Amino acid sequence: MRNLIILGGGYGGLRVIQKLLATNNLKDVNITLIEKEPYHSLKTEFYALAAGTVADKHLRISFPNDVRLELKFETVTEVILEKQKVVLGTGENLNYDELVIGLGCEDRYHGVPGAPENTLSIQSMRRSRKTYQVLQGVKPHGTVAIVGGGLSGVELASELKESRPDLNVMLFDRGKNILSMFPPKLYNYVTDWLIEHDVKIINEANITKVERDVLYNHGKPIPADAIIWTAGIQANKIVRQLDVEKDSIGRVQVTKHHQIPGYEEVFVVGDCAALNHAPSAQLAESQAEQIAMLLTKKWHGEPFPNEMPKIKLKGVLGSLGKKHGFGLMGEKALTGRVPRVLKSGVLWMYKHHSGY
Ligand SMILES: Cc1cc2nc3c(=O)[nH]c(=O)nc-3n(C[C@H](O)[C@H](O)[C@H](O)COP(=O)(O)OP(=O)(O)OC[C@H]3O[C@@H](n4cnc5c(N)ncnc54)[C@H](O)[C@@H]3O)c2cc1C
Repeated sequence: MRNLIILGGGYGGLRVIQKLLATNNLKDVNITLIEKEPYHSLKTEFYALAAGTVADKHLRISFPNDVRLELKFETVTEVILEKQKVVLGTGENLNYDELVIGLGCEDRYHGVPGAPENTLSIQSMRRSRKTYQVLQGVKPHGTVAIVGGGLSGVELASELKESRPDLNVMLFDRGKNILSMFPPKLYNYVTDWLIEHDVKIINEANITKVERDVLYNHGKPIPADAIIWTAGIQANKIVRQLDVEKDSIGRVQVTKHHQIPGYEEVFVVGDCAALNHAPSAQLAESQAEQIAMLLTKKWHGEPFPNEMPKIKLKGVLGSLGKKHGFGLMGEKALTGRVPRVLKSGVLWMYKHHSGY
């Protein structure tokens, strides 16, 4: 029997499992998933959990119930590549023949003093729940500062305004415009929407320090009842600790077959892998499908393809509350109700196909 261990049951890890279990000729392989939560979490919706517009239960999906899959709800503390071994928080050591690392990412604080201790997060389900609790407890007309005007910061600001219209929501962004990775048509539309809904946008911000209930922009103190950090990500700590080649945010430089060079039995998926596209759930899923295909080939003694198919991404969709949204499909910029309906549709399909 071969032992395949999958670390992390997020978008990448779960898709590898779904694809492998869908093959009829999966013989002589034990698959073990190690995941710290007893369910798959819909991370792309954490902004709504934090804002209080979606219930926790709606963002959890059970893992497949299949005799070929062993579920271990434990925390991974270390991967020892040389020994083909995974260490768990319980002290247990597990050996693998093949390993898939899909542990996702964490907030990146860019060395800003006080930011890790004094800001809230929407990077994990547990931290999003905590953010929800703090946000719901903010006094009437209190101030909430969101640091980072990318997709998740914008989605959180708009959803929060819908959930708590009384709050004074401030969105701090380093660039000249929020959503600077999108074309002007999109960021102008989103900027106008946010201004119209009374979100204060502070462009060209430079957060130099964060204290409890105070953030400093260019050194100037700004009191806030809650401060949420959405200003950057880095690979999971376990991955950052690996002694292999990584990019500037700790993601592993992988081969075209998604393996760690020198450790061909180890595949890296999703936010832990340095790829040429911006990290996304879509990217993690596409990559996972390729990894499942490669694992099957390996187990059948077939060679890997010399050229891997190009990963094709459908586009990006963002929400502005429950009724409006924005998106980029290829070159086409979408604004208004249509992208919002599409986003809800994509989520519905995902839940439906994952057995929600
Ligand atoms: C608010 C927000 C909105 C987003 N919106 C979109 C969107 O609209 N579209 C899109 O494509 N992407 C979106 N993303 C990005 C997307 O969520 C990620 O790129 C995606 O989740 C990456 O998948 P993954 O499998 O690499 O990691 P994840 O889905 O994060 O899965 C990692 C898993 O590993 C587990 N884990 C972590 N550490 C340990 C450990 N030590 N031991 C055991 N288990 C562990 C976690 O519990 C988790 O289940 C959004 C992200 C955020 C935060």
